[in-house]
Amino acid sequence: MNRASRGHGRSVSERLKLGAVSSCGFRVSSDGASGSEFIGGALRRRAVSPLWVIAVLWWLPVLEAADVRVSHWARALHPGEVVRLTLEAPVEIESARAQAFDRSFPMFPTSDARRWEGLVGVDLATAPGSYGVRVTARAGGSSLEEVHTLRIEPKEFPVRRITVEERYVTPPAAELERIQRERELVSGIFAETTPRRFWEGPFLRPVPGEATSSFGRRSIINNQPRSPHGGTDFRAATGTPIKAPNAGRVVLVRDLYFAGNTVIVDHGLGLYTYFAHLSEFRVEEGALVRKGDVVGLVGATGRVTGPHLHWTTRLVGSLVDPISLMEVTNSVEGRDDG
Ligand SMILES: [Zn+2]
Repeated sequence: MNRASRGHGRSVSERLKLGAVSSCGFRVSSDGASGSEFIGGALRRRAVSPLWVIAVLWWLPVLEAADVRVSHWARALHPGEVVRLTLEAPVEIESARAQAFDRSFPMFPTSDARRWEGLVGVDLATAPGSYGVRVTARAGGSSLEEVHTLRIEPKEFPVRRITVEERYVTPPAAELERIQRERELVSGIFAETTPRRFWEGPFLRPVPGEATSSFGRRSIINNQPRSPHGGTDFRAATGTPIKAPNAGRVVLVRDLYFAGNTVIVDHGLGLYTYFAHLSEFRVEEGALVRKGDVVGLVGATGRVTGPHLHWTTRLVGSLVDPISLMEVTNSVEGRDDG
């Protein structure tokens, strides 16, 4: 959408590289020979002829117009949103990734190898402002780079007051070691980016019920301010089956102090689903799940005020709203086998 940033800050050498990449559309070879080598080779062989130099100099600006293009789509540019990034090139793209918010987001090919997509997470704690997304790729044997700008707008999140059992506000000293161990275990899982993409097409709603409270809401628990809500809660009775919103590998099935019975699914490329407060598990660690497979049943275990499903989504470590993920992936290309 924001294409105004195209070409900003691009050096002359990058322009030449991009020109060389574009030229591969005319003579790309399977051994990955790059266009710049071709141009260099041509100049070496024909250095005596000024016509060649003129032809190449005239050619480059023309190729520049058929440049790579980066665009984005999001329902809004706020903290906690997922942004879909699209990279388009005139030749087949071999690899691509996006650097943004000090994180590295993998990209993946669509059915057209000249178009790659990727999901970028704007962490809930991101301060409003303009951020550069640096897309680097290999195409036609050459490297290319494009900086795309995202302008993150501020958002006011609601505040609520709740009362829970005192042991969940001031945990007993005997539980502190367990809580710390679990925190490290979970953050260690989210720190890993599995290079394989298990997920495909839209992320589905895991239970039929509506979302009952918004992502990012600030809570005052037993009169003490607490960190913002890192997930979305769905209204559901105890025993309601919880469906995997997309394919993935189950990486954690465990009773955690605050989250109660918890299942974490690794969807690949740094994307994770975390379901909390389950009454029962229906999967084991290490299992591969398909979209729609039941992973457990809704419950009220851990720090809760009543039965519901808590769903947190992490994208390369960033805390993002699952509803945003559902909306953004609705428009991501890919077969929906759910
Ligand atoms: Zn919750």
